[in-house]
Amino acid sequence: MNKLEGKVALITGGNSGIGLATAKQFVAEGAYVFITGRRQAELDAAVDAIGENIRGIQSDVSNLADLDRLFATIKQEQGHLDVVFANAGVGEIAPLGSITEEHFDKIFNINVKGLLFTVQKALPLLPEGASIILNASINSMKGVPAFSVYGATKAAVRSFARNWTLDLKERQIRVNAISPGVVPTPGYGLLGLNDQQLQEFVDSQAINIPLGRVGTPDEIAKAVVFLASDDSSFVNGIELFVDGGMAQI
Ligand code: NAD
Repeated sequence: MNKLEGKVALITGGNSGIGLATAKQFVAEGAYVFITGRRQAELDAAVDAIGENIRGIQSDVSNLADLDRLFATIKQEQGHLDVVFANAGVGEIAPLGSITEEHFDKIFNINVKGLLFTVQKALPLLPEGASIILNASINSMKGVPAFSVYGATKAAVRSFARNWTLDLKERQIRVNAISPGVVPTPGYGLLGLNDQQLQEFVDSQAINIPLGRVGTPDEIAKAVVFLASDDSSFVNGIELFVDGGMAQI
């Protein structure tokens, strides 16, 4: 029996990295999946790669009009959503002393404002028993040089999971955060490092991971499937770390 048979899911930022890997596993487990992203060409490529039970809708999470259009389309086409994986997020390097207002606004608008309004605008479509999963990060509770604005957004995301668990308790809707560790994805290409610097970064991180290696998007996706499915029916309000032990020691 597939773990998500007959469920309808939304994955924001589902055309790349962790979101794309999760979309693939959701569909393989029997779900019908909406994915979003800002770039139509990447969305089309993701939809083609998955093939069936997948629908791409171009939408920027930080743009509330885009979100309204997204949920109007989902309502019209499927009528409801059983699973929301609020995954879209970005990180950029900016040491304290060089943080600009533009950097702050961009990272908070996508990672915090966009995630908040994704979930809030999804609520009318969620039946009792739905599952909301928020993509946080080990940086929700661990410091990283030059990454403080990103870390602050992920601490906010973790806090949302705690508070929304209470706001949604009458509707029996579960809200959990997932916190990946170091998982190389196309998103790492946006950090402003060249190939050699990127490889040095990954190697330097692996040393501090008890399993001795970085993770893969598929390993995060498997944990998201767990939180989306009835296998986690009594799991609520948690932060599930999938980090090879990096932030646990
Ligand atoms: P990625 O760049 O491969 O994917 C990010 C996705 O978000 C892309 O599909 C992108 O199009 C989308 N996106 C970005 N801004 C958007 C916007 N304004 N509106 C809609 N979509 C937007 O990166 P990833 O590593 O797969 O990251 C996915 C999530 O996982 C992020 O929230 C990130 O913070 C989190 N995370 C990643 C890691 C890691 O090591 N990769 C670790 C911890 C947390």
